[in-house]
Formats: sequence, C-alpha cells, structure tokens
Amino acid sequence: MSKLLDTPIEYLKGVGPAKGKALRKDLGINTLGDLVEYFPFRYIDKTIILPINQITDAHQEVQVKGKLLRFSHEGVGRAKRLSAILHDGTGSLDLVWFQGASRVANVLEQGKTYLVYGRLQKFRNRYSIAHPEIELLSNLADASTLSTLAPVYSSTDSLRKKRLDGNGFRRLTKTLISQIKPPDIPETLPPYLLEKTRLISRFEAIKKIHFPASAKEKEQALNRLKFEELFFAQLRAIHRKYKNYREIPGYRFDIIGDKFNQYFNDILSFELTGAQKRVLKEIRADLKSGRQMNRLLQGDVGSGKTVVALMSILMAIDNGFQACMIAPTEILAMQHFLGIEEEARQLGLQIAFLAGSVKGKKRAKILEALALGQIDILIGTHAVLEEPVIFKNLGLAITDEQHRFGVEQRSKLWRKSKPNPPHILVMTATPIPRTLSMAFYGDLDVSKIDEMPPGRQPVETLHFSESKRLRVYGIMREEIAKGRQVYVVFPMIEENEDLDLQNLQRGYDLLSNEFPRPEYEISVVHGKMKTKDKDYEMQRFVEKKTQIMVATTVIEVGVNVPNATLMIIENANRFGLSQLHQLRGRVGRGGGHSMCILMTGFKLSNEAKFRIKTMTETNDGFVIAEADLKLRGPGDMEGTRQSGDLNLKLASLVEDEKILAFARKLAILIIEKDPKLEHPENALLRKHIQTIGRKALGWSHIS
Ligand code: ADP
Ligand code: MG
Repeated sequence: MSKLLDTPIEYLKGVGPAKGKALRKDLGINTLGDLVEYFPFRYIDKTIILPINQITDAHQEVQVKGKLLRFSHEGVGRAKRLSAILHDGTGSLDLVWFQGASRVANVLEQGKTYLVYGRLQKFRNRYSIAHPEIELLSNLADASTLSTLAPVYSSTDSLRKKRLDGNGFRRLTKTLISQIKPPDIPETLPPYLLEKTRLISRFEAIKKIHFPASAKEKEQALNRLKFEELFFAQLRAIHRKYKNYREIPGYRFDIIGDKFNQYFNDILSFELTGAQKRVLKEIRADLKSGRQMNRLLQGDVGSGKTVVALMSILMAIDNGFQACMIAPTEILAMQHFLGIEEEARQLGLQIAFLAGSVKGKKRAKILEALALGQIDILIGTHAVLEEPVIFKNLGLAITDEQHRFGVEQRSKLWRKSKPNPPHILVMTATPIPRTLSMAFYGDLDVSKIDEMPPGRQPVETLHFSESKRLRVYGIMREEIAKGRQVYVVFPMIEENEDLDLQNLQRGYDLLSNEFPRPEYEISVVHGKMKTKDKDYEMQRFVEKKTQIMVATTVIEVGVNVPNATLMIIENANRFGLSQLHQLRGRVGRGGGHSMCILMTGFKLSNEAKFRIKTMTETNDGFVIAEADLKLRGPGDMEGTRQSGDLNLKLASLVEDEKILAFARKLAILIIEKDPKLEHPENALLRKHIQTIGRKALGWSHIS
C-alpha cells in the first residue's frame, strides 16, 4: 500500500485527535487506507427529488425540495420540539427537531429553499421527517451532490455525537477520495484478467464505490470488488489444493487386507448403498495414490457415514497404520466409540477413547500404548490433538462435524504424523449449500453420500400448539405401546441456561406424572450433568430400559437408537433450521414410520413460522440448508465464522453465487495452466495471495 494510505487517520482534514480516537476504537479505522476500505453499506438516491404530493406510505425515505415556512416551538418538557413546514408548491410536510432546537432555529432561515432528506413518518395523517438532513439549495454549488447516490456508512452513537453522522462521515470520505491517485490503489488483477472479466480497475472501483455517479457505476464498482474478494479466496484455496496434490506425499495404502475383508464379508450386516460404495472407491483411490488425502465427506443425517469411516479406518490398519476419529463433543465421541467398539473387538483390534474426562493413570496408560502402537484406533475429542498425545504411526484422521472445528485444529492434525501428514477425512452431516462448500472447502475434494439406506421413510413432521398437549401424550402412549421409544427435546442456550434448565425440569416432572413408574421409565440428559451420569442415562435408553429420553440438544448429533421413532421438540420456534433438521434425524432410523412433533406457543414471529413450515414440508437436508442460508446469511451459519480464508466485506454467498462460480472457474483455469503461479503474467496474483496468506493466521505452516 502507498505511503498516503499508511497515514494515521488523525491527519485527514476534518478528523483530528478526538474523532481519530473514536474511529480507531469504534470502527477499527486506524489509517487512511482503512477508511478507503470502509465501504458504504447502502446509498441514498439523491437523483430523485419527490414532489410532496406524490409521497405515499410506501416511501420510507424521501428527498424533497421546498421553501421553509413557519417555525414553531411546541410541547413542554421532554416532548419539547421545534417544528417547521416545508412547502414545495404541490404540498407540504412537517420537519421536526427534538434535540438542538435552538441551534437549528438559528441556522435555518424562513422563506429560503432547502433540499431535505430523511426518513418518513406519518403522524395524524400528515407526513413528517424528524431530524432531516437539510441543506440550503444555494449552498449546493457542487452540483454533483445533487446528481449522485450518496453513500451511507455504518456509524456508532458515539461517532454521531462527534458529528460523524451521515453527512459528517460522507465529508471525510469525500475529502479522502478526492486526494487519492491511481498509484495509491495498486491493481491486484493482471491486465489479461481485467480484460477477460471486463471489470474496472481497482482504483476506479474504490472511487466509485464511495461516490458513484449513477446506479450503473455503483454496480460496476460492486462487481469488481466482490469478484476480487471471491476470486482471491478461491485462488488461494485451489492453489493450496494443487500444491498438496503435487507436493505433499501421503502414505501409500496399497493393500486391501484381512481386517477389511473380514469386516466386509463376516460382520457387515447390510448391503452398502450405491453412494457408500462410490464414496469408498473415491477414498480408496486417494489412499493408494501416494499423495495425502484431504477429503470432505458430505452426507445427510442417517445416510451412513459411520460405516464409510470404519471401512476407511480398516484400510489404514491393514496397511500397518493407526487411525483416529475426532468429534466435537464428548458425548458424540463416545457415541462413535460405542458404535464401532463392538466391531473393532470382533476384528481383534485395540480401540481406545480419549477426552478431557479421561485422566490420571488411565490417560497415561492410553498415551503409552498409543505411542507404542498398541492401540489401533483412537476415538476422542479435541483432547486427541493435544501435544502429549503421540501416535506411533497415524495414517488416517477422521473428523466428524468439522463445522465445529476451527481451522487450527485441522493444522494440528497435520503434525500428528511423520514424515507425512496423515490422510484426512472430514465428515459433515450438516448439508452445506453448494456455495458455502465451494467457498469454505475449496481446497478439499468432495465426496457425497446422496442416497439413503433402503427402507427409510421420511419423518412425518407435525406442528402442534400447546392446546394439543393431550393429543401429544396420546401419540406418545401409542408409540410406547408398540415397543418404540420417544425423545422429548428442550432448547438450551447459554444465555438462558438457568431458565432453560427449569423448563426442562418442569417438563420432566409433568412427564413423570403422565407416564408414571413402574409402567414407564424416563431418562434425562442435559449439558450440565457429569459425563458419567450422562452416559449412564444414555445407556439405559440405548438398552431400552427407559422409553422416554428427556434431553437438551446434547442429542443433536450422533446418537443412534433406531428403535426411537417419535421426537417431540418443545419450544421448537427457538431452534434454528439446521438444528431442527439434525434433531429430527435422530428418528426414522429403524425403517418404521417415524414422527416428529414441533411444539410451539400460539404467537410466532414470521421467521419462526417459516422455519416450522419448511420443516413440515420437507425432509431434504439440502433444501433445508439452502433455506437456512437465505434466512440467516452465511455469517451466522454454524462454524463458518472462523474461516481464515473468507473475509468478505462486500460479497454475499447467498446473493453472489454467480460471481462466486465465475471466480472459481477462472481460478481453476489459472492454476491448471500455471500451478505455481510462476508465469510473469501471474506475478501479481502470487504476490497478492501471499499478502492475504500472511494476514490469515493459522494456515502459514500449511501452505
Ligand atoms: P450418519 O451418516 O448420520 O452418521 P450412520 O452412519 O449413523 O449415519 O447410519 C445411520 C444408520 O443407518 C445406522 O444404524 C447404520 O447402521 C445404518 N446404515 C448405514 N448404512 C446402511 C445401509 N447401506 N443399509 C442399511 N442400513 C445402513
Ligand atoms: Mg453419524
């Protein structure tokens, strides 16, 4: 960046120490360069001046031009205000000031013509604008203010108090933008790309995004800058992928051996689905290629990822390597452990569990055996990634529910094996919309299990309000009478923990009344319980000693009790869409007809209604994920926040899918032709991704 843009923000005309301090503190704007890249979040269309008689309720903000008539001070005490009438020949509206009335009255002149802009209100059938932006028309010598879109920057209360409101902020950026010259904003795209994409230069884009002369210019600027964000994220990811592909050797698992065959022939009790077979072939091809595998395994809840994971583990073991599997929570890890423990033992393999709760002698023993190679499979939580955990020869690492893992964890895994990093299989049950997986997992190869095991029926999903509680009890009784089991799920969020726990307790008490012993037994599991107690309660349910499991979202992922065919979700409006889908995936696993009942109160927000409606209408995880993405935006998608790759200021993964696809296509073309970005024409690209790379912490030792 140029010298000019490194200048501390205080030196900009109109800033000074006080405003400078606030800009640094509130918005992280430390230099002129930071301000240049502080983009407006919307624009006011100053090209339209609306005749007052054409204002309708549909207008939210308006710009009008008219004569100021009659000032009056009205009201008393807190309701005290200054009002004025603006008349433009077609009609009139009121302008109102609640604060700074005397200053306003001093500055404004009756009978003069003003340009007025602001948010429209309606009071007693008359339109008014409170605290309008107002400027004397004759002052507007600079005609450009009249004919452009005025940028609006997000500001804070404390900045507004320092007069960095709409107009104040705009003045700063205007001053700055008028000073910058092309060399201050170096181009990041080589000429051939500019030509190919027909995008405007970075310099032009920066100028125009702040002060577009027209809607078209605004679009040009946005397109250019959005493309740049998405393009470089993709280029980095694909560059990394190719680099791995070329340079990072992987252990070669040549043979399909005894354990694999024994499992496949003697233990596996069902036919693999076509999708499972295909995915296993893809994994197998990676594992014997001599290159390190980095593969994402996507599959909806219940699609059968665990078998694929286990069979991959057996490939590692048959070739003399250890394998590990890591899940984000202890319960989930334990489920995996229990899920494959039996089979591992049948195969004569040593399997161990490691989590924070495994301490002292037990832990020491596991670590020792692991280092000696006496343990074949280690299942656990993040604890597996800690320094003292040393494998003899880790060949394959599987992470489940990667979206809860940070980028750093993945890199810690890489260092768990020498001389090569272990092969890595990332499993995710949260169906990731195409755009997101492109953006976040651009460097992973993707395998999809897009087929459910046979006999699965969609889970019938109903929405009941509180008044149908008795009917719900009836349905529960019927299911239990058939020998089936029931989940009753309560929301639990950190901010509301005490209240949520009380709710769960009350729910449990009610159920205990309704389903009394000894005829019925109820398990309870929630996040505040000790692991030991949780496991005990879980186990009772798994062994069918209890018919009802009252739980918080701890059962969200991974629990596998095929005999459970009914799920009641209490306060379903408080869950997000993907969470609801994950929860629902816990039933419908036994092949029988399953049901999910979403309980809510009567009053629901529009958004909650939409979530509930989506759930009752579809069982398709991808449809749900897309809906969720639209509803919440990617920034909110679980676990997508921590990506070191994606620092999007302007582009939206929801709205800019086309630009993303285009950027990705170009990035692939470029890397295929010039994998190391060595050609002189790509020097600029290489330089820029290195700069971004240095900024994105955590990846440096990988790429
Ligand atoms: P997920 O993808 O959610 O991890 P699981 O691996 O837990 O799914 O599988 C869900 C259930 O389906 C398990 O009970 C598993 O044994 C069963 N299953 C997996 N694959 C098949 C298949 N090909 N045929 C029948 N049942 C299967
Ligand atoms: Mg699973």
